[in-house]
Amino acid sequence: MLNFKNCFAYAVSFVFPIVCAVCGKTLHPLSKERICKDCKEKLPKINDVVCQICGTPLEGAEKFCNVCGKSRHLFSFNKMRSVYMYKNEMRSLVLKIKYSNKVFLANDFIDDMADVFRKNSFFNETDFIVPVPLNVIRHFKRGYNQAEFLAQGLAKAINKPLLTKVLVRKKITKPQFKLSKKEREENIKNSFYALSSPQIKNKTILLIDDIVTTGVTVSTCAYELKKAGAKKVYVLTLTRD
Ligand SMILES: [Zn+2]
Ligand SMILES: [Zn+2]
Repeated sequence: MLNFKNCFAYAVSFVFPIVCAVCGKTLHPLSKERICKDCKEKLPKINDVVCQICGTPLEGAEKFCNVCGKSRHLFSFNKMRSVYMYKNEMRSLVLKIKYSNKVFLANDFIDDMADVFRKNSFFNETDFIVPVPLNVIRHFKRGYNQAEFLAQGLAKAINKPLLTKVLVRKKITKPQFKLSKKEREENIKNSFYALSSPQIKNKTILLIDDIVTTGVTVSTCAYELKKAGAKKVYVLTLTRD
């Protein structure tokens, strides 16, 4: 349909064509996507064969990864799933979303996250969606929180309420690079707290982040949310390292 808005989009696209964020191919002027179909299909999607707890991709028929196989209660969250591996083009896309002011690229992944949400029936228990917060200063400097952006999109797609004030991240004062792995983990553990609110008491929270590496951050958030009254905490991340 050719209306004024569409005509304008066509006109602008002559001067500033919309191009795929991966291969640079010109996209349709009215395209909502910013990554072309071919590039999207090549991204390292995680299949269904994963650890039942932490979502680590598995080779064989076992139910748990080496870590969760030894202890089912290492993490404070109940279950975690991720959509893509943090490698190849997915790595550079996450870096663009995070550091190059291209948070709009995250829009291309909302449907993928909604698909993984629907595929795993335990996610249906979700009462509220909560993004992993940034500390106030970083949030202000960056102008946005990519986890919140993803959480907002997902909340809309699956029709669940979003809570952004319940989990808080304090500024870490000690520089992380000077610390050992253990000290860094301690630092992360001390940097989150959840406000106890009657709203989350006995509720199931779905925690959203753009990337999970060791799992310490999301596990700490889950621990704090449970301390504040939440019954269960599930985690869904766009990527895992
Ligand atoms: Zn492309
Ligand atoms: Zn596991």
